[in-house]
Amino acid sequence: MKAPAFAYAKPASLAAAFDLLGNPHAKVLAGGQSLIPSLNMRLSSPELLVDITGLPGLSGISLQGNSVRIGALTTHAQLEKSEEISKLVPLLAQAVPHVAHAAIRNRGTIGGSLALADPAAEYPACAVALEAVFIIKNKATERRVNAGQFFKGLFETDLKPGELLVAVEFPVAAKSDRSVFLELARRHGDYAIIGLAAHNSRFVFLGAGSTPVLIQGSSLEMAKAALSRNLNPSPDLYNSSATKLHLAGVLLERAWNTITTSR
Ligand SMILES: Cc1cc2nc3c(=O)[nH]c(=O)nc-3n(C[C@H](O)[C@H](O)[C@H](O)COP(=O)(O)OP(=O)(O)OC[C@H]3O[C@@H](n4cnc5c(N)ncnc54)[C@H](O)[C@@H]3O)c2cc1C
Repeated sequence: MKAPAFAYAKPASLAAAFDLLGNPHAKVLAGGQSLIPSLNMRLSSPELLVDITGLPGLSGISLQGNSVRIGALTTHAQLEKSEEISKLVPLLAQAVPHVAHAAIRNRGTIGGSLALADPAAEYPACAVALEAVFIIKNKATERRVNAGQFFKGLFETDLKPGELLVAVEFPVAAKSDRSVFLELARRHGDYAIIGLAAHNSRFVFLGAGSTPVLIQGSSLEMAKAALSRNLNPSPDLYNSSATKLHLAGVLLERAWNTITTSR
């Protein structure tokens, strides 16, 4: 299928982008790896696409105090190749290779993935596990939102009309921190059937609900009990809810053992 007709603008500055985003029927275009397929499938029909690629200051990885700031336009491939990310945010580094395939990783951005809030995506779960902070701007102001408050529902976030996610800040991993990313997918690079971003005692599941689901417990038994109380994954074409719950338990135990034995 072909996309419905839309106008296209590529502003040269953030101020010009915010002017264009004042149109309630405009949509931000970043890497286009989710938006363009959704237009082609006629799941969305914006009047105007505001292409933010090339806007200054929205890309790159930098160390700021005790945080690693990642610009929204930083691609999955840039994260994958970054030595800073593998050293300072190892959970994210483990997750990136699970995001789609190389061609998609070359264009898709971290900001696009977080703003989309697909419940089966890797970064939202990592952001909640690591208690990342989202930097959001509109024409007039900037605000900071904790990852735990950002994901509101299925493909629904705290972003308001006219706002842009400009960056995300992850805490630098301490020497004593332990993290592990695990995912089960039909083929490597497919969206997860179920996945787990685990950081110390925070276990965050993806593909298990309408948003990332945080499970905590002071022992494996308590975490397993919290899992069966709080996780009610929707079935997909191939896996029942009970199968997904079982697989979530398997991942939890693996992650728990990895984290506790590497201390
Ligand atoms: C075949 C295939 C397999 C895939 N597999 C996976 C996978 O396994 N895991 C995974 O996580 N993803 C997967 N993806 C999605 C891919 O990672 C996308 O790149 C990503 O989800 C969106 O990033 P983007 O830069 O392409 O955003 P776009 O497609 O340009 O935008 C996505 C949405 O976010 C909004 N948006 C984008 N940037 C911003 C911003 N800075 N501020 C506010 N709103 C913004 C757009 O308006 C749009 O609604 C897959 C995609 C395809 C086509």
